[in-house]
Formats: sequence, C-alpha cells, structure tokens
Amino acid sequence: MDKGKFLYEGKAKRVYRTADPNQYIVSYKDDATAFDGQKKGTITDKGVVNNLVSAHFFKLLEQEGVPTHFVELLNDREMTVRAVRIVPIELVVRNVTAGSLAKRLGLDEGIELDEPVVEYYYKSDELHDPLINCSHIRLLKLAEPEQLTTMREMALKVNDFLKKYLDARNIILIDFKLEFGVTEGEGRLILADEISPDTCRFWDKQTREKLDKDRFRRDLGGVEEAYQEILRRLLG
Ligand code: UDP
Repeated sequence: MDKGKFLYEGKAKRVYRTADPNQYIVSYKDDATAFDGQKKGTITDKGVVNNLVSAHFFKLLEQEGVPTHFVELLNDREMTVRAVRIVPIELVVRNVTAGSLAKRLGLDEGIELDEPVVEYYYKSDELHDPLINCSHIRLLKLAEPEQLTTMREMALKVNDFLKKYLDARNIILIDFKLEFGVTEGEGRLILADEISPDTCRFWDKQTREKLDKDRFRRDLGGVEEAYQEILRRLLG
C-alpha cells in the first residue's frame, strides 16, 4: 500500500491517506514533547521503537480479543491502520502511583494500588487535556454511555494482559494511556493511537529503573538506551 495525501501531523506521528479510504498509514517520528508541549527534543530512533512496540502489542491484543486499528507493519517506522474517528477521551489506567496521580493526591511515587485506577482526560489542546469524569463525558457528549463502558472494559483487559506479559519480561507496568476510535463504515469502537514507552510507564522489576519517556521528561539521561532496552526485552 502506497502513502497517499498527507492528512495530519501530531506531536509524535504523521498520518497519510492510502488508496483504500478505510485505511491510513501512520509514520512515527523521533520528535519528543513533554509538559503540554513546553519541552521539546528528539529521541534518536524513538519512532522505530514506538512503531515496532505498538505493532507487537496490537498483534498480541488482537489475539486476546481486543479489536485494534492495527492492520500491518510496513517498515521500521510505519504501519497501516484502520481509519477511525478518534474519541476525544484519553483513558489512563494505573497500577502503581506515579506522575500526575501522585502529584494531584499528594502520594509518593511507587505505591502499588490495590486495584487499577481508571481516569479519563478530555483531549483538548485549548483546555490542556483536563481530568474529567463520567458526568462530564455525558455533559459534553464525548461518547455514548455504552461506548464508555466498552472503553473502560477494554482498557482493564489491556491492563490485565500487558501487566502479566511485561512482568514475564522483568518490566512493571506502572500506568499507561489509551485512545479509542470509531470506524467510519461500521461504527465499530476499536483501540487506536499507540502503546509505547511514550504512552506507558515501564519500570525494571529488580532495580525499578525507569525505562520510558520519564527519562526525557525528567532529564534522567540514558533516554535512547531505555527505549532500545524495551525493544530488546519485547522483541529480543
Ligand atoms: N500519558 C500520555 N499522554 C498524555 C498524558 C499522559 O501518553 O498526554 C501517559 C503517560 O506516559 C503515563 C500515563 O499516561 O504513562 C499517566 O500520565 P500522568 O497522568 O501521570 O501524566 P504525566 O505525569 O505524564 O503528566
């Protein structure tokens, strides 16, 4: 499938049309941003890692019965995906305190949660992606109530699967963000966007060393090495 007309450029990816109106090509960039776009940089070969890791997770999740937008890997930086209308909600699932949860609730980082915490954020650049609840989602008509139930169930299923899969590879899944989309024709709700060290927190099980974008956010050094280590542990 050849790349057609350029459609959209986000912070980390470019999207192109293809000859098939139901499929797009996503091209993963090395550009990195943090803190609502205030911090900018480049992580060498991040695009390769995020493309390959996302493709790997999407394939595994499809096998587990979670529908995703993934169609096929085209090359190191590009995949073909099903065309969707993105639901403007980011679902965050957390197993261990970190990041904004720790900050908002005044908790230390690294505390294991008794049960996963699911959060919703409104995808809005102008409003800086605020934390919202189910009432807000109804108020703003961001998703149908049944769609929200399905997204929550799928997010928890993704968490159950990935947590075990990563644990076997010496990685603790601290938290992650998911986005969903609705297919144009059938109106099917499927997992979209990416699942990568940009959108997940991964800690080494023994050393609790961070192996994700927090190395970039917090200037911890060894950013490229951490991304490559995740690629190695998952695809060896
Ligand atoms: N996350 C993301 N995109 C965002 C915000 C968060 O992929 O725009 C991911 C982030 O990598 C982490 C999880 O969602 O794995 C929870 O992030 P948190 O709310 O703690 O926000 P942060 O500390 O990144 O500001």
